[in-house]
Amino acid sequence: MARHISAGRKAAFYLGTVLIVLGFALAGWGVLSASAPPVDIASLQIRVFGGVALAMVGNLLRSIGTRGLAGAGVVLDPAKARRELEPYSRMAGGMVRDALEEANVGLGSRVEKVVMIKCPSCGKRNEDDSRFCQECGRRIRAE
Ligand SMILES: [Zn+2]
Repeated sequence: MARHISAGRKAAFYLGTVLIVLGFALAGWGVLSASAPPVDIASLQIRVFGGVALAMVGNLLRSIGTRGLAGAGVVLDPAKARRELEPYSRMAGGMVRDALEEANVGLGSRVEKVVMIKCPSCGKRNEDDSRFCQECGRRIRAE
Protein backbone atom coordinates (compact mmCIF):
# COMPACT_ATOMS: atom_id res chain seq x y z
CA MET A 1 0.00 0.00 0.00
CA ALA A 2 0.95 3.64 -0.25
CA ARG A 3 3.15 3.97 2.78
CA HIS A 4 4.80 7.10 1.55
CA ILE A 5 3.52 10.21 -0.14
CA SER A 6 3.85 10.23 -3.94
CA ALA A 7 6.03 12.74 -5.77
CA GLY A 8 2.92 14.37 -7.24
CA ARG A 9 1.46 14.96 -3.80
CA LYS A 10 4.77 16.36 -2.55
CA ALA A 11 4.86 18.72 -5.52
CA ALA A 12 1.28 19.81 -4.79
CA PHE A 13 2.21 20.43 -1.17
CA TYR A 14 5.21 22.62 -1.97
CA LEU A 15 3.46 24.41 -4.82
CA GLY A 16 0.63 25.11 -2.38
CA THR A 17 3.09 26.54 0.12
CA VAL A 18 4.56 28.81 -2.54
CA LEU A 19 1.07 29.96 -3.60
CA ILE A 20 0.14 30.76 0.01
CA VAL A 21 3.30 32.84 0.47
CA LEU A 22 2.73 34.61 -2.86
CA GLY A 23 -0.93 35.15 -2.02
CA PHE A 24 -0.14 36.71 1.34
CA ALA A 25 2.58 38.85 -0.21
CA LEU A 26 0.18 40.04 -2.91
CA ALA A 27 -2.60 40.77 -0.40
CA GLY A 28 -0.12 42.45 1.95
CA TRP A 29 1.20 44.58 -0.88
CA GLY A 30 -2.39 45.56 -1.72
CA VAL A 31 -3.13 46.53 1.88
CA LEU A 32 0.13 48.48 2.15
CA SER A 33 -0.50 50.38 -1.08
CA ALA A 34 -3.92 51.40 0.29
CA SER A 35 -2.19 53.65 2.83
CA ALA A 36 -0.27 55.54 0.15
CA PRO A 37 -2.45 57.71 -2.05
CA PRO A 38 -3.37 57.91 -4.83
CA VAL A 39 -5.23 54.65 -4.27
CA ASP A 40 -6.29 52.73 -7.35
CA ILE A 41 -9.29 50.81 -5.99
CA ALA A 42 -9.48 48.42 -8.91
CA SER A 43 -5.87 47.26 -8.73
CA LEU A 44 -6.08 47.23 -4.92
CA GLN A 45 -9.04 44.85 -5.09
CA ILE A 46 -7.26 42.68 -7.63
CA ARG A 47 -4.23 42.42 -5.36
CA VAL A 48 -6.13 41.77 -2.14
CA PHE A 49 -8.74 39.38 -3.53
CA GLY A 50 -6.26 37.83 -5.91
CA GLY A 51 -3.87 37.29 -3.03
CA VAL A 52 -6.57 35.73 -0.86
CA ALA A 53 -7.68 33.52 -3.77
CA LEU A 54 -4.08 32.44 -4.37
CA ALA A 55 -3.65 31.60 -0.70
CA MET A 56 -6.89 29.59 -0.75
CA VAL A 57 -5.83 27.63 -3.82
CA GLY A 58 -2.45 27.12 -2.17
CA ASN A 59 -4.12 25.86 0.97
CA LEU A 60 -6.21 23.39 -1.03
CA LEU A 61 -3.11 22.18 -2.87
CA ARG A 62 -1.31 21.71 0.41
CA SER A 63 -4.11 19.66 1.89
CA ILE A 64 -4.25 17.58 -1.30
CA GLY A 65 -0.51 17.10 -0.88
CA THR A 66 -0.77 15.95 2.73
CA ARG A 67 -4.04 14.03 2.54
CA GLY A 68 -4.40 13.08 -1.15
CA LEU A 69 -7.30 14.00 -3.42
CA ALA A 70 -9.81 11.80 -1.60
CA GLY A 71 -8.32 12.52 1.81
CA ALA A 72 -8.70 16.26 1.26
CA GLY A 73 -12.35 15.77 0.32
CA VAL A 74 -11.88 16.76 -3.33
CA VAL A 75 -12.87 13.28 -4.50
CA LEU A 76 -15.58 11.48 -2.52
CA ASP A 77 -14.12 8.05 -1.94
CA PRO A 78 -13.82 7.05 1.74
CA ALA A 79 -11.85 3.86 1.04
CA LYS A 80 -9.33 5.74 -1.07
CA ALA A 81 -9.28 8.55 1.47
CA ARG A 82 -8.29 6.10 4.16
CA ARG A 83 -5.43 4.80 2.02
CA GLU A 84 -4.30 8.28 1.09
CA LEU A 85 -4.50 9.52 4.65
CA GLU A 86 -2.35 6.65 5.83
CA PRO A 87 1.04 8.40 5.71
CA TYR A 88 -0.50 11.49 7.24
CA SER A 89 -2.25 9.66 10.09
CA ARG A 90 0.88 7.67 10.73
CA MET A 91 2.77 10.93 10.99
CA ALA A 92 0.14 12.37 13.33
CA GLY A 93 0.09 9.14 15.35
CA GLY A 94 3.87 9.20 15.53
CA MET A 95 3.79 12.74 16.81
CA VAL A 96 1.25 11.82 19.49
CA ARG A 97 3.37 8.84 20.47
CA ASP A 98 6.47 11.03 20.68
CA ALA A 99 4.61 13.49 22.89
CA LEU A 100 3.38 10.68 25.12
CA GLU A 101 6.85 9.20 25.38
CA GLU A 102 8.22 12.59 26.27
CA ALA A 103 5.57 12.99 28.97
CA ASN A 104 6.41 9.52 30.24
CA VAL A 105 10.04 10.40 30.79
CA GLY A 106 8.99 13.06 33.28
CA LEU A 107 6.35 10.87 34.88
CA GLY A 108 8.58 7.81 34.90
CA SER A 109 11.41 9.37 36.85
CA ARG A 110 8.98 10.46 39.54
CA VAL A 111 7.18 7.11 39.76
CA GLU A 112 10.47 5.22 39.78
CA LYS A 113 11.41 6.57 43.18
CA VAL A 114 8.06 5.62 44.69
CA VAL A 115 7.32 2.18 43.29
CA MET A 116 10.28 -0.19 43.48
CA ILE A 117 10.51 -3.90 44.15
CA LYS A 118 13.29 -5.12 46.38
CA CYS A 119 15.01 -8.26 45.14
CA PRO A 120 14.61 -11.02 47.77
CA SER A 121 17.99 -12.42 46.87
CA CYS A 122 20.41 -9.51 46.66
CA GLY A 123 18.32 -6.62 47.95
CA LYS A 124 18.71 -4.51 44.79
CA ARG A 125 15.76 -2.20 44.18
CA ASN A 126 14.16 -2.84 40.83
CA GLU A 127 11.47 -1.04 38.89
CA ASP A 128 7.96 -2.14 39.67
CA ASP A 129 7.39 -3.65 36.22
CA SER A 130 10.63 -5.58 35.92
CA ARG A 131 10.39 -9.36 35.88
CA PHE A 132 13.96 -10.13 36.77
CA CYS A 133 16.39 -8.47 39.11
CA GLN A 134 18.69 -6.13 37.25
CA GLU A 135 21.55 -7.05 39.57
CA CYS A 136 21.46 -10.81 40.01
CA GLY A 137 18.91 -11.86 37.40
CA ARG A 138 16.59 -13.59 39.84
CA ARG A 139 12.92 -13.70 38.91
CA ILE A 140 11.10 -11.18 41.08
CA ARG A 141 7.70 -11.28 39.45
CA ALA A 142 5.57 -14.34 38.84
CA GLU A 143 3.93 -13.51 35.49
ZN1 LIG B 1 18.82 -9.53 42.89
